[in-house]
Amino acid sequence: MNAHRFDNIMLKTKTVGAKATPKGIEVTFASAEEGGSAPAPQLYDLVLQAVGRTPNGKKIAAEKAGVSVTDRGFIHVDIQMRTNVPHIFAIGDIVGQPMLAHKAVHEAHVAAEVIAGELQGNKELAAAAFNARVIPSVAYTDPEVAWVGLTEDQAKAQGIKVKKGLFPWTASGRAIANGRDEGVTKLLFDDSPEAHGHGKILGGGMVGTHAGDMIGEVALAIEMGADSIDIGKTIHPHPTLGESIGMAAEVAHGSCTDLPPSKK
Ligand SMILES: Cc1cc2nc3c(=O)[nH]c(=O)nc-3n(C[C@H](O)[C@H](O)[C@H](O)COP(=O)(O)OP(=O)(O)OC[C@H]3O[C@@H](n4cnc5c(N)ncnc54)[C@H](O)[C@@H]3O)c2cc1C
Repeated sequence: MNAHRFDNIMLKTKTVGAKATPKGIEVTFASAEEGGSAPAPQLYDLVLQAVGRTPNGKKIAAEKAGVSVTDRGFIHVDIQMRTNVPHIFAIGDIVGQPMLAHKAVHEAHVAAEVIAGELQGNKELAAAAFNARVIPSVAYTDPEVAWVGLTEDQAKAQGIKVKKGLFPWTASGRAIANGRDEGVTKLLFDDSPEAHGHGKILGGGMVGTHAGDMIGEVALAIEMGADSIDIGKTIHPHPTLGESIGMAAEVAHGSCTDLPPSKK
């Protein structure tokens, strides 16, 4: 299906220039290997640029203000976003992974509340802390991939026994109606003996259209310590993609009536 999009992958090649011309974007290349040959310049309608991020703690000379900066340029903060200099706070990418906008915003709220609380003598505000259990991630691809909390691999590596609820979108009326039933919703619940069959949700992930719009519900479930009955018995509207979260919980619980019959 995607063959035509990937039929000209240039290996061992660097992009060294991109120039907008009336005919399109002219992109020039160089060999990534010394003495190697580079492809001829190409003309494109669209160019997708992927960039990484690095913390700039060293570049802003934070150390001159007494703030400790790691070799990689990060600044350590406590759960109130306070640096080693008590009246200097830091939030966002510079304080560590994950480097995501929604993490930065919540950290910034905490810092602002602590500062305002201390200035105003408001003890409740001054006690604000960043203590999120989880931070969701989304890959805005097509289809989207979204995940939050523990993954199956992490559970395995950490020796945590989990019960999995997997709901294929081929059984979702909305996904079928959308013509996009290639997705799946997966939830993981604590299955340790101490959980006595009522383990809390530990993580979840989904692949499919609008997955990023739905992962917040799984994050909320983790924050609230929900189990498979809490989520499965929460009535989700039909037909929606969000229904797949309730169904995945029912699958884990063993009460899902919406799965296609398994092949014999
Ligand atoms: C291409 C790209 C796509 C991204 N997509 C997503 C996404 O889909 N979802 C998501 O959650 N996150 C995404 N991110 C990450 C997100 O943008 C960052 O996590 C977020 O912006 C971090 O906020 P911040 O306040 O820490 O830093 P920034 O938003 O970078 O803000 C730092 C600010 O400080 C300013 N500044 C720097 N040095 C100085 C100085 N010396 N003096 C004064 N001002 C200075 C900068 O100009 C900037 O305005 C993406 C990032 C990139 C680069």
